[in-house]
This record gives sequence, structure tokens and C-alpha cells, in this order.
Amino acid sequence: MNDVVNIHPAVDNRVKPVAAAFSGGTLSCACSTHKVEVAVKGQCSHNHVCGCTKCWKPEGALFSQVAVVSRDNVSVIANEDKLAIVDSNATIQRHACKECGVHMYGRIENKEHPFCGLDFIHTERSNENGWAPPKFAAFVSSIIESGASPHNMGAVRARLVELGLPPYDCLSPALMDAIATHTANANGVLQ
Ligand SMILES: [Zn+2]
Ligand SMILES: [Zn+2]
Repeated sequence: MNDVVNIHPAVDNRVKPVAAAFSGGTLSCACSTHKVEVAVKGQCSHNHVCGCTKCWKPEGALFSQVAVVSRDNVSVIANEDKLAIVDSNATIQRHACKECGVHMYGRIENKEHPFCGLDFIHTERSNENGWAPPKFAAFVSSIIESGASPHNMGAVRARLVELGLPPYDCLSPALMDAIATHTANANGVLQ
């Protein structure tokens, strides 16, 4: 019934299973030559699909797939000169290939931000199998801002539930709690 709803190629058919001792991989952009390459050490966390208008999405996908890793584990190993920041005023500075447009990593430079120290990556840009798969859908309503029909949202949410990706219109409860805890600690509200 919901098979016409394509969420993202990484989850539409069969999600690749997580590998127990996963050591990371290399993300590459979509250029046919002189690819930008980013080495990522270790496993990612909080992998999810995201409906916001800022995350990079593959052609035809309703959602992006995005995860976080420690910024210390991210290094550009090839063709760094092809990278440019998409919007330097945005909280997340997304470093994208100027030629093919793929976002290679997003970084938060604001030291006060709860997620400072984490980089955002798109694990499908790596050929390695074993990345922790997406576990929820964030900013679902925002796909309407990219042109998705508001009338189809019931089918989209039903498909997300079917795929084991609980739909949220912000981040997941765990991440929203983490942000609020950071804010409360910063304000001295929590003892
Ligand atoms: Zn490229
Ligand atoms: Zn997003």
C-alpha cells in the first residue's frame, strides 16, 4: 500500500546490518574523477533520516540519511581544495564538493552548541558495510518545505513506522533531552 513512498535508497529496500567491530570507512563525493575523500574512524552514532531542507539528499530521495561522529575521527584525505562551506551562517557548516554538490561533512564551530565536537556525515557515501543504520526520522513535516505534498504525509509517516523509523517533527526524544540537559546545565538549573 505504501510502496510508492520512497524515503531514501538506504532504507527503502533492506537496511544493511550493523557490523559488530566496525572500524569506519571512507566517504567519497559523486565526481567521476578527482573525488573528494573523507576518512572516518570508527562507528557512527544517532544515524537517522532527516526531512529538513538543509541536509544533502540523493537525487529523488524524500529524506537525507545523516549520522554523527566525533570530529577528531574525520579527516579529508583527497581533493580538499574542491570543498566549500554551503552556508557559513548556518549552525552546521556543511562542507560540500563544489563540483557535484555532495555534502562531505557538517561541522559545528560554536563551542556553546550541545553538538559541538560532532560532525554530521552521510554514511551512504562510503562503500564499507557495517555502519549503524538509521533508527528514527527527524524533521518529518519539513519535507513539505522541499515540495512534498502535505496530503501524502499520512502515507509517509506510515511508511516510516513500517521501516522501523519512528517519525518525529524535531529530533528524537533522546536528542531533544540531550539538548535540554545541556541548556539546563549551562544555565545552572540542574543540580
Ligand atoms: Zn564531487
Ligand atoms: Zn537535516
